[in-house]
Amino acid sequence: MSRILIFAEQRDGQIHPATSQLIAAAKTLDPSAERHLVVIGDDLDQTKATLAAHDVTRVLTMESPDLKRYHPRGYAQALTTAIEQVEPKLTLLPATFMGRDLAPRVAVRAKAALATDCTALRYEGEALIVERPAYMGKVIATVALATDRSSIVSIRPNTFAPDQPTGANAAIEPLDVTLELGSLQNTACESTSSGEKDLADADIVVSGGRSLKSEENFKILYELAHVLDAAVGASRAACDAGYQPHSQQVGLTGKTVTPRLYMAFGIDGAIQHLAGMRGSKCIVAINTKKEAPIFGVAQYGCVADLFVMAPLLTEEFKQVLAR
Ligand SMILES: Cc1cc2nc3c(=O)[nH]c(=O)nc-3n(C[C@H](O)[C@H](O)[C@H](O)COP(=O)(O)OP(=O)(O)OC[C@H]3O[C@@H](n4cnc5c(N)ncnc54)[C@H](O)[C@@H]3O)c2cc1C
Repeated sequence: MSRILIFAEQRDGQIHPATSQLIAAAKTLDPSAERHLVVIGDDLDQTKATLAAHDVTRVLTMESPDLKRYHPRGYAQALTTAIEQVEPKLTLLPATFMGRDLAPRVAVRAKAALATDCTALRYEGEALIVERPAYMGKVIATVALATDRSSIVSIRPNTFAPDQPTGANAAIEPLDVTLELGSLQNTACESTSSGEKDLADADIVVSGGRSLKSEENFKILYELAHVLDAAVGASRAACDAGYQPHSQQVGLTGKTVTPRLYMAFGIDGAIQHLAGMRGSKCIVAINTKKEAPIFGVAQYGCVADLFVMAPLLTEEFKQVLAR
């Protein structure tokens, strides 16, 4: 039976949402394949148990105080060992910052074929075919990976809907790895938080464009977002103008989001913006120009001034949701 190995990214024991999306991708690609997870870090008791509740064959673990934070060499050694042990046909990683760093390191060590930042994958006979956006999403490259070796594929987060845990109790097994970390040491790690909901985790995203005209004006979107428990996103034009930090940018060169509801206020709908949000389940567009391309992908459109609509919606939702 063919085997798929899935790298379960975690930080401080928090499993990255992309992990369950990778499990879903593996199931979609080959439902009959064995699914093996590998998680690397330190002090992972709770994390392992959470992962084992998914419909997977087993969870391999590598725990060491040296791997408490991401360590390029240590993680590469552990993941390569997992590949040698499981001998998967395919290894999946998320195309996150960690996955982007790790995937090529492991591909070299494992002498595997590598395709990064993929948005679709399928088998055609023995050949694994993946799709990768190129030239800023203007073209989609279709790539066939070599069949004479194992493949490593990183998948863009939020491309697949997450797999839900089944309450299963998969086996948890430690990996036997002798770490050789060399002189590379992680000496400091600083994390910051704005206190606002993270775009990647949000079920609802309220997004604004250049037409907001200032950082100050974005407050009307934050007010709506707080009522809806939503995250605030922005177009690149709004971020380039300094109205929002680039960490909030949605699109090809920003974040990909697939929330239940995406509300676009004064966003024109350029192809590069659509690349980051068109997978949303329901898109609502508010724009003064009825020809704006955003209306082409929206389920609900409102030709109106956002400075009128946003406060109105905030008041209406406050009443409906009693917040
Ligand atoms: C290589 C490359 C990568 C890119 N990556 C990204 C990316 O990741 N994300 C991204 O967003 N863009 C990206 N862009 C930029 C993209 O092409 C567009 O320029 C950008 O998305 C436009 O942003 P916007 O819709 O906010 O602004 P505009 O194009 O200026 O559109 C403003 C819209 O607001 C409407 N409007 C004006 N006033 C009001 C009002 N009062 N009420 C309601 N509606 C109003 C207008 O009718 C218009 O539709 C990229 C471009 C390139 C070349």
